[in-house]
Amino acid sequence: MDAKEFCEFGKATLAYIADYTENLRDRNVLPSVKPGYLNELLPREAPIKGESWKEVLKDVERVIMPGVSHWNSPHFHAYFPTGNSYPAIIGEIVSAGIGCIGFSWMSSPACTELEVITMNWLGKMLNLPEEFLNCSEGPGGGVIQGSASEATLICLLAAKERSTRRLKEEHPDWNDATIKSKLVAYASDQSNSSVEKAGLLGSMTMRLLPADEKCRLRGSTLLEAMRKDEEAGLVPCYVVATLGTTGTCAYDCLDELGPICNENNVWLHVDAAYAGAALACPEFRHLMPGIKFADSFSFNPHKWMLVNFDCSALWVKNSRYLIDAANVDRVYLAHGHEDKAPDYRHWQIPLGRRFRSLKLWFVMRIYGVEGIQKYIRGSVKLARYFENLVRYDNRFEIVADVTLGLVCFRIKGDNSLTNELLERLTARRQIYVIPATYMGKTIVRFVVCSQNCEEKDVEFAWNEITTQTTEIFKSQIEASAVLEDRSIEIRTIITEKPLENLTDKLLDLEITSTVKNSPTIS
Ligand SMILES: *Cc1c(COP(=O)(O)O)cnc(C)c1O
Repeated sequence: MDAKEFCEFGKATLAYIADYTENLRDRNVLPSVKPGYLNELLPREAPIKGESWKEVLKDVERVIMPGVSHWNSPHFHAYFPTGNSYPAIIGEIVSAGIGCIGFSWMSSPACTELEVITMNWLGKMLNLPEEFLNCSEGPGGGVIQGSASEATLICLLAAKERSTRRLKEEHPDWNDATIKSKLVAYASDQSNSSVEKAGLLGSMTMRLLPADEKCRLRGSTLLEAMRKDEEAGLVPCYVVATLGTTGTCAYDCLDELGPICNENNVWLHVDAAYAGAALACPEFRHLMPGIKFADSFSFNPHKWMLVNFDCSALWVKNSRYLIDAANVDRVYLAHGHEDKAPDYRHWQIPLGRRFRSLKLWFVMRIYGVEGIQKYIRGSVKLARYFENLVRYDNRFEIVADVTLGLVCFRIKGDNSLTNELLERLTARRQIYVIPATYMGKTIVRFVVCSQNCEEKDVEFAWNEITTQTTEIFKSQIEASAVLEDRSIEIRTIITEKPLENLTDKLLDLEITSTVKNSPTIS
């Protein structure tokens, strides 16, 4: 392919992506294909002769799109958001165009240096403690990982390195194997599955401790577990605290956990994969006190900060332990500048690394801090609007506090009602929400995900939810009315309240509540 053709191909592809993005609302958010669908549509062998790019691009719409779950659709409300934006897409293209592998400073100086700079910008935007930044005097610094899962794992390895060194000094007669077999890690039972996985992959016992009634890990719970392990001859090594749990967006009590970890030589890692982005807005910082106690902090710009996957930000207060845990220092990799710029290969699992800071740089420059704040506040505002709609309908209840872009709710009464609602919604493919459990109750997680989600999309989702709920109650009435004549009584319960006229009222309500909760907004 020559440059002229590349430009035509590129222009057509960008136009296709723009059209896809702008018209996403019109597609069903979930596909209707069955497993193996693509096998039926594509040949068994690679083509012998090269094909034209037009054929290939056409097939994206013909065979790929029918099997895509549209994560960026305004009707996608499952999991947590996956970041995306036009500047990030272009940043990704430039990164692919340069195509360098930035494992050391010398292997592509700009790749390392832009990452150092953007991670400092980002850390300052979130108001992280100075010690985390590469521009501080100390050994702290930030690095971009592929995922929060990797961040949790490499910090576990760094914690293991730190504890092993300390214990060797304290107990010269203990060898590495003895020490490593004694180390224990802790997290709450609400932590992401990747935390448990880090324990498995890093060969460290990971205790998932019970969270309190607000789904938070408390200091007293941690302390009790640590004391019990110490009595059994084990050594507490690593704690993962979650800010913004995947289930209900709960916040572990960092200001309780922090001092306990600091006093006991236990590495405290903070997993704020989703909620961390909200630290860009001063009015949400009160939700996450105690970050100063952490040894490492990670969040995903690829979740709620407009950067497409993969871009997971990790900061450590002391990079020495990370580097020592992962340093193999072969001669062919040395370049003599190690003290002036980080060799990021020691800060991660693979050797090779992409130029991921480009897309972060594009997003931060083109949106600016204000643009990012506006985006975060917009998501929270829509979530509050949805919360108010739920509260206004007495068939439903809100479960867990709504603090950011996640609303957890359920149909009052037996779990079977909410389960049926979820089944119906998924089968109809108009909106996508997923369940979680909260104290034995099935709940629906509704997340404001797409950057293009608007009030009308929240209303669309609410209409879909209430219509299906009405259907569920109707079929119950039909069943029970046959047995006894209670239909009138139940029919009053299912009366729907019209959305028109209500919208303005609820938005007003929402604005007052935002102002009340956020005295720092000017
Ligand atoms: C999404 C999420 C993760 C996993 O993130 P990856 O980047 O996919 O590894 C971890 N922790 C929390 C709290 C999350 O919400």
